[in-house]
Amino acid sequence: MQTNEVIEQFDKYVIKNYTRTPIVIDKASGSTMWDIEGNEYLDMFPGWAVSGLGHCHPRVVEAIKNQAEKLIHIDNTFYNLPQGKLAEMLSERSFGGKWFFCNSGAEANEAAIKLARLAGGEKRYKIITMEKSFHGRTFASMTATGQSKTHAGFQPLVPGFAYVPFNDFETLEKTVDDETIAIMLEPVQGEGGINIATQEYLTSIRQLCDEKNILLILDEVQTGMGRTGKWFAYQHYNIEPDIMTLAKALGGGTSIGAMSAKPELAKTLKPGTHASTFGGNPLVCAAAIAVIETIDDEQLLENATQMGAYCKEKLTHLQQKHRIIKKIKQIGLMFGVELTVEGTKIVELALAKGLRINCTQQNIIRMLPSMTVTSEQINKATDIIDSAISEYQNSLTDQTEEQNDV
Ligand code: PLP
Repeated sequence: MQTNEVIEQFDKYVIKNYTRTPIVIDKASGSTMWDIEGNEYLDMFPGWAVSGLGHCHPRVVEAIKNQAEKLIHIDNTFYNLPQGKLAEMLSERSFGGKWFFCNSGAEANEAAIKLARLAGGEKRYKIITMEKSFHGRTFASMTATGQSKTHAGFQPLVPGFAYVPFNDFETLEKTVDDETIAIMLEPVQGEGGINIATQEYLTSIRQLCDEKNILLILDEVQTGMGRTGKWFAYQHYNIEPDIMTLAKALGGGTSIGAMSAKPELAKTLKPGTHASTFGGNPLVCAAAIAVIETIDDEQLLENATQMGAYCKEKLTHLQQKHRIIKKIKQIGLMFGVELTVEGTKIVELALAKGLRINCTQQNIIRMLPSMTVTSEQINKATDIIDSAISEYQNSLTDQTEEQNDV
């Protein structure tokens, strides 16, 4: 099939709830992907942070194949080997919590919200979340999301949520009341534009939660599984959450979400309170186990830290060259290049030159490269960004000259 034929098929049969780039991706490996016409792209935003080990990592592929031959799915009426092993591996690398498995980030957050509400009973039900946060598209996770554009058209939303500005402890403290059961945030806001929580902010939140018996829910759907150079972003801060959610990179490309709660709190979720038919099935858990083993064996946490610092350096050079780059925000392999102009055009120009990046919050170029990324790939990516920005600026100059001619 040709690209236009695939697009026609989508137009006819697939609901148009996404803005899609007119490219049909056919295969991908590591940080490279190819479209059906054979064009190659360097992917610095693999699967919106899902392909944390890069596309189709051989160890994940092998684990999926082996598990598929044995047992793809068994419902949660029974026990299965991969789910228990995965829970143990995750627990050992985080805060010793217990795990509930589901299929996506939104579902993991939904589980966290339901757990907090159950723990709070009827009197304590309020959950405070952050402006510019993103927690998903199900009704409660969408309500938790502190962005009005995500809420548009869906009112009335789930009651009991309040929003405060990120990294502003004073406002948060004032918003807490006797009905508050949880504070929920991303340690680094992803969709919000790579906004990194300060040490002081997270320490103060933890203290406040301890004093007032409030649950701290950390959404590590985008930051988790090594992306920031530690298994989980909270580990940079010397604090622990009561509840943590994961998805995206956890399954190496398979659909898995997970929610962890401290053991005492986890007891609140009893049979009949929450469930997921597919949640934690052997196939996705085997893939997630392979992800964790690969991160350990290939020392990818170290690579994320090193490549993160290297890429930051390259981007800082670009900032010195291009005035439209206002700020570079970085932690591990999460990058936000804040521009003084809208970023969409630059993202399009980069794609035409074979580089996939993303733009969020209108003016923030976002890159979430895979943990297997190399310095050569970073060189290539930053060269293309450099050239895309130059081309963009030249086009502005041409436009101004044309206007002056008129
Ligand atoms: N939480 C965060 C921090 C996210 O970045 C996302 C997705 O981008 C979600 C939750 C929702 O995850 P999903 O799309 O898997 O439901």
